[in-house]
Amino acid sequence: MKTHQRSKELYERAVKVIPGGVNSPVRAFRAVGGDPIFIHRGEGAYLYDVDGNRYLDCVGSWGPLILGHAHPDILSAISAQLPNGTTFGAPTELEVLFAEELCEAVPSLEKVRLVSSGTEATMSAIRAARGYTGRDIIVKFEGCYHGHADFLLAKAGSGVATLGLPECAGVPAAVTANTLTLPYNDIEALHATFREYGFSIAGVIVEPVAGNMGCVPPISGFLEALREVTQRYGALLLFDEVMTGFRLAYGGAQERFGILPDLTMLGKIAGGGLPLGAFGGRAEIMDVIAPVGPVYQAGTLSGNPVAVAAGLATVQTLKKQRHVLYERLDRIGGKLADAFRYAAEEAGVTVVVNQIGSMITVFFTDLPAVNNYAQAKTSNTQRFARWFRTLLEEGIYWPPSQFESAFLSDAMSDEDVYQLIETARAGFYKAR
Ligand code: PLP
Repeated sequence: MKTHQRSKELYERAVKVIPGGVNSPVRAFRAVGGDPIFIHRGEGAYLYDVDGNRYLDCVGSWGPLILGHAHPDILSAISAQLPNGTTFGAPTELEVLFAEELCEAVPSLEKVRLVSSGTEATMSAIRAARGYTGRDIIVKFEGCYHGHADFLLAKAGSGVATLGLPECAGVPAAVTANTLTLPYNDIEALHATFREYGFSIAGVIVEPVAGNMGCVPPISGFLEALREVTQRYGALLLFDEVMTGFRLAYGGAQERFGILPDLTMLGKIAGGGLPLGAFGGRAEIMDVIAPVGPVYQAGTLSGNPVAVAAGLATVQTLKKQRHVLYERLDRIGGKLADAFRYAAEEAGVTVVVNQIGSMITVFFTDLPAVNNYAQAKTSNTQRFARWFRTLLEEGIYWPPSQFESAFLSDAMSDEDVYQLIETARAGFYKAR
């Protein structure tokens, strides 16, 4: 039995000075019971908590750490930058190099602007889409999460789904009045909405593979339909690749599925574990942004040299390893998904395992498939919580929510994957 005494003490202190004791809601373990674990350090595929317990990390800081913790190339890039200073608020060579790398890596990017988080990236990209089209309406999908900007917190996934919040308090109805929300993977609803509002729609924002209601890949034809209908009505297609960028392929989901959006948002992996986001797309669209065009967008720490050094080192490392790394992650992910399905069946627990590349979710549902948020919500979250707690106790740090995707990293060895399968098997018996 692991001891969590020091985590417990820290949590007791934390709740007195930080709302819920955490700086982002899902970290509080509310949906799975028990107190959160306080982390001391990470190395490769592992996390070590303040009580000295070791965990195989399947969260990877919610996506950024595809290369694992404390990767030497990234640490040395950060260390090399530090003596030169931490922020200038002026252009640097590093950000030019980084923008060039991003535009080369991500098929639809011609110009890109750096920000400090995924939230800023989506918020700014939507402002650009509205500025470019001169239209107001944005279409998003239920269960997708695009950060915590007011007008995108309509039927949002991630922590909003985990906590079961119907809507977010503090967001005036007027602010989401121009946000239309449709079921993910529903091509008919998409066409119906465009028939009614098509020429007022500035853009459709989508996670090309949803990760914030658990992992839900697009059904065949969904991304194609998005591309076709937006083009037909002169609306923009926005791929929120904050999660999928550099994860599902070097060029993200757009490379993997061969569908090119008008605007793309990046974060997580692109920042190499430091606070960084980016949005970009066709030059003629991006040139609506100030100082070229009239859409204002700015940031004191945008293009921060330390974050850019980490992002650049990550992207360059992935570029070198891409021919081996993504295939390996696909293989590990596929193996896990098959093993989880088999083990659950053996234990007599009905689950749907959604997996694509290194993104994976086990939905504890009786449905035959999970293709949207309503289906994800049929999951038995009590069962998930029991499964999660077995994993945690046995040294696996899985996302503490049914509605979050797990992320595999290249730092995981085949031995780690084997341990994960064996632990999950025991977990399915406990989950019954
Ligand atoms: N978009 C997607 C798809 C995300 O998964 C997230 C965060 O989880 C965001 C945007 C927001 O990014 P950040 O938390 O860096 O603001």
